[in-house]
Amino acid sequence: MLNWMQSHSKFMAEDVRSILGRTITAADHHAGFDSMLEFVTLQALLAFRKDTNSYRGFRVGCAVYAHNGENRRADSHARVFMAGNEKQTPETIKLCAERKAILKARSARYPHIVGMVIVGEPQGDKDSLLVTPTLHSCLSCRNFFQSTSGITADTQIVTIEPKSGEHERMTVGEMIRLHQGF
Ligand SMILES: [Zn+2]
Repeated sequence: MLNWMQSHSKFMAEDVRSILGRTITAADHHAGFDSMLEFVTLQALLAFRKDTNSYRGFRVGCAVYAHNGENRRADSHARVFMAGNEKQTPETIKLCAERKAILKARSARYPHIVGMVIVGEPQGDKDSLLVTPTLHSCLSCRNFFQSTSGITADTQIVTIEPKSGEHERMTVGEMIRLHQGF
């Protein structure tokens, strides 16, 4: 019995070491986002309920799942950052929930955005003129996604309509193509 335990614990230790030393891949990060999706959604809902500041009562909450860019499993960390939208008067510049949450992640040195959840009531896109069942990111945010390192065409976006719970899932690349028409 003792021998079995000794050999078993040695095997376990080697197994853990090989896992810790392994290189993290994009597929690992996407699996991490999927496994955390319920939590990320709850954070986005919390931001939608508690963190918005809009003079016209238009509320959007976003939570992003971001990692620190370390590719060794032992050093790789992911965190969730959330924010609500802000436009206090018609004259002030709007601060979208997505950009606020992403900037929070970047300033905390978690610049790699694996995925995000956006909660908000849909309004027609004033640039693409598309009407979508859930709220998609606006043109300024879509441009920001394209010009920001750490956000890729594969970054996942889940959008949720807060009353019905209807949701869509796509990548940043798919959302941009949908609204740009190519
Ligand atoms: Zn926006």
